[in-house]
Amino acid sequence: MNQQTPSNETGRIVVVGSLNADLTIYTERLPQPGETLHGEGFTVNPGGKSANQAVAAGLLGGAVSLVGAVGQDSNGDMLLASCSAAGVDVTQVNRVAGVETGVAVVTVDAAGENSIVISAGANGTLRPADVAAAQAAFDGSSVVCLCLEVGLDTVQAAAQAGHDAGATVLLNLSPYAPVAPELASLADVLLVNAHEASQFLGGEEIPAPDAPTSDWEPVLEHFADRGLDRAVVTLGANGSVVLDGLAGSEGRVVRIAPTKVDAIDTTGAGDAFTGALAARLAAGDSLYTSAAFASVSAALAATKKGTQAAYPDETGVNEVLG
Ligand code: ATP
Repeated sequence: MNQQTPSNETGRIVVVGSLNADLTIYTERLPQPGETLHGEGFTVNPGGKSANQAVAAGLLGGAVSLVGAVGQDSNGDMLLASCSAAGVDVTQVNRVAGVETGVAVVTVDAAGENSIVISAGANGTLRPADVAAAQAAFDGSSVVCLCLEVGLDTVQAAAQAGHDAGATVLLNLSPYAPVAPELASLADVLLVNAHEASQFLGGEEIPAPDAPTSDWEPVLEHFADRGLDRAVVTLGANGSVVLDGLAGSEGRVVRIAPTKVDAIDTTGAGDAFTGALAARLAAGDSLYTSAAFASVSAALAATKKGTQAAYPDETGVNEVLG
């Protein structure tokens, strides 16, 4: 099989976690502490790491169920509509009374960099019991996709449910929080940016983007010491690195060069990467092939403003892959 041609069989993906309304303002530069800046182009858009990841996977042909919580407000309506439009099953997203939908206040500068503050809102109500109530979604699933925007006990329960179902548990350690060894050991694939990788490894120095692949071997070993055989480290505009202690001929350390684009808003590029990775893993591709596809998907997502509205479909990614 051509490694960069997606296959047609698609296993089901369960995404468990957050949905947020993104309140975004564009500024020339990010404000300093205590400083007030003039911005422009205020928008309210669907976001939240898990909703983004679910939409990214859904737009790429993934069969996705989202487990989460929103309030009974207009932001909740907007989020459910956006997920549904991408083909994501939202029947396991609770509509919680008396609590607002989660919100992220996002500032994006002229270089496309961002800073984000989150109010969890309804996301904070998602409990292990909600994971148990969604057991039918886990049964027979092939990928369970998790991030850290909801409580760690809920993430742990979802990782366990995915593991018990025989799914590939994809754990995105974002936003970074220390996780218990029991949770890390349930992850089949860890997805982190360089900063998160360093934090997870106790301050370990991560090789520079132009370092030889041999410099990544110790990083792979450090992950393995923590029970993780497979990880993808994203490096922003410098692409990514696949660390696969279980790899055969594709190699234990493989650099994926960035797709050259004019980035105007990298907000949610990591989620575009995660969702695309989940979609291709669920379709049966190798970790490396999935990450190469995800790299293109994330780069395309950076060429438009916003998150979910910027995510490409399969045709868009395949046009770049050729
Ligand atoms: P965020 O939290 O902002 O969504 P992140 O820190 O989780 O992002 P990054 O490493 O910044 O993740 O980006 C994820 C992936 O997106 C990269 O590995 C790369 O494939 C792609 N990407 C990001 N920025 C660019 C860019 N400027 N040009 C090309 N690809 C990019």
